[in-house]
Amino acid sequence: MTYQPIIGLEVHVELSTESGMFCGCSGKHFQAKPNTNTCPVCLGLPGALPVPNKKAIEWTILLGLALECEIPGESRFDRKNYIYPDLPKGYQITQLDQPLCGPGKLDIEVSGENKSIRIRRIHLEEDTGKIQHTEIDGERVALVDFNRSGVPLVEIVTEPDFRSVEEVDVFVKKLQQIVRYLGISGADMEKGSMRIEPSISILPISNTTNTTNIKYPNYRVEIKNINSFKFVRNAIAYEIERQREMIERGETPTQQTRGFMESKGVTVAQREKEEAHDYRYFPEPDIPPMRFAQAQIAKLKTQIGELPDEKKARFMKEYGLSAYDAGLLVETKQRAEYFEKVLSRQSSVVSPKAIANWIINKKVDIASTPPEQLLDQIVQSTTTTPVSGDELENIIKQVLSENSKAVEDYKSGKEQALMFIIGTVIKRIGVGSGDKNTLIAIVKKHIQ
Ligand SMILES: [Zn+2]
Repeated sequence: MTYQPIIGLEVHVELSTESGMFCGCSGKHFQAKPNTNTCPVCLGLPGALPVPNKKAIEWTILLGLALECEIPGESRFDRKNYIYPDLPKGYQITQLDQPLCGPGKLDIEVSGENKSIRIRRIHLEEDTGKIQHTEIDGERVALVDFNRSGVPLVEIVTEPDFRSVEEVDVFVKKLQQIVRYLGISGADMEKGSMRIEPSISILPISNTTNTTNIKYPNYRVEIKNINSFKFVRNAIAYEIERQREMIERGETPTQQTRGFMESKGVTVAQREKEEAHDYRYFPEPDIPPMRFAQAQIAKLKTQIGELPDEKKARFMKEYGLSAYDAGLLVETKQRAEYFEKVLSRQSSVVSPKAIANWIINKKVDIASTPPEQLLDQIVQSTTTTPVSGDELENIIKQVLSENSKAVEDYKSGKEQALMFIIGTVIKRIGVGSGDKNTLIAIVKKHIQ
């Protein structure tokens, strides 16, 4: 018997807005002194009223548009009630049945094959505080820090479309890349500004099972808040194996929430999975429903900019780069923009491919290397002509007119004559051998 993993994801991303989701506290809580970044609203003090953050709402829709989501004209916040020490109000303001973004998709490529992962929804909520377990004077205590409480948090929910650990890995990295391109979050796993919760079940498959139209298992195991790509892979792989062993022992896995113990590489049961009705959701009475005009959505659409896939395709077409090189260049928006900056400064014979190679292979520190300086380095190292494009053209024209016999010889098939011409050009420029192939191509163009 083989088993087909069925995996869905919930991904939380903290938005890097200046202020909180419903208050004016700074959104920059990372490594701040505990409880220095709070106010009556995010501490949930009686009578404090939430005011939604417009930027956070716009950024959530922006992300939805980038993931080809439907954007409903109306949306609403809801209260999710539960008691936990990191949640001072006793409820979290989130969205239940009217999220900001409806169904969408993200295309991924795994082992040369393309696949669409369906997005079910994207909603906006507030983050909780943080509990830290520690020891003070030999006594075990739990400390709570409310700095993160009320930071805007988007939750991206996918359909259970993943069939392997690799697919999940490619998807979460691509999602992080898009979030960073949009400039709405650093999406740093290690800082906790991107957290991943996979839901896993497995389906026994026989030769006769129709895998294109499968019936999902009636349970799923959710693993809470994983904060590194590696742990996501490890946790899913472990969970697939754990469930397989259970099924082979004749047991049935149950609906559960589990945690991943990084040190041991295992998942452990935390609680039986709650249902939505356990939270007694109801519409948030302190915030009116939101309505969006088509013009507002259209305006946001213009702010998406060029996303990694489009950029990659353009680099291949416009600059003749390979898919591999173009993919590496667009990995971050900064690197892609740097490449084009260097290219725009360029006035001599360095090819886009040569610039791409330098940026990729020499691991250029783009923050500390001005484009002009990089161009200088490339020119010097290839000892390509430090003359401008125009000067070079003039030198070539001059050499050709002075050596018309060599030109005629080359035209009648004597390759050596071309080398003589190239040698003369190089001598005239006054530097070494240069990026010879490029030079040869230019001279040949002039002879024709
Ligand atoms: Zn606050």
